[in-house]
Amino acid sequence: KRTVSILDIPFNDTTLSEFTSELHTKIDSHQNTFVVTANPEIVMYANQHPEYRRTILSADNIVADGIGIIIGSKMLNTPLPERVTGYDIFTELLAWGNANHKSAFFIGAKPEVSQKLKTTLKTNYPDLAVAGIHDGYFTDEQPLVDEITATQPDMVFVATGFPKQETFIQKHRHAANAVWIGLGGSFDVLTG
Ligand code: UDP
Repeated sequence: KRTVSILDIPFNDTTLSEFTSELHTKIDSHQNTFVVTANPEIVMYANQHPEYRRTILSADNIVADGIGIIIGSKMLNTPLPERVTGYDIFTELLAWGNANHKSAFFIGAKPEVSQKLKTTLKTNYPDLAVAGIHDGYFTDEQPLVDEITATQPDMVFVATGFPKQETFIQKHRHAANAVWIGLGGSFDVLTG
């Protein structure tokens, strides 16, 4: 797997369609996978916070979310082909999951957004099995983790913003052999 390093963060040299195909294969074979969609803010933050840096370096894939990363890669003469954003991966996986009867677990956003998300999923992705939906303002993680363990979803979408979402994923990813991905404000965008 080819990577391009930006401030010592190894980005996958891949396109959106290549990368989502790779994820489909991983989901079909139940490979435990942690994906970080890193924008310049995440790279800067990792540069200043060694613990968060270790968290994102523990991911299986780091992809370029944000034009700033693409521009940086070009300036370094190691151009990445295109943005691979969390939101684009999210909507692609929802559509693929719907077409292939996969299951997904959703964590993040405000309670009212989380409620709206339920309706949006039912309407637009009726054949995607919703293993669980929770807002991102919980104090105790354990009940959520227990629910993920019990339901064994194919995909776990964590949209609580960085660094929270990646820290959560690193800590709990072994609860299910799923693709785990941090998605920032994607639930707000999908329901907005
Ligand atoms: N959020 C959450 N729990 C928190 C803090 C934030 O679920 O404790 C949600 C917030 O409601 C929003 C998302 O996380 O939906 C953060 O979106 P943003 O675009 O700021 O993401 P970032 O770029 O910080 O990763």
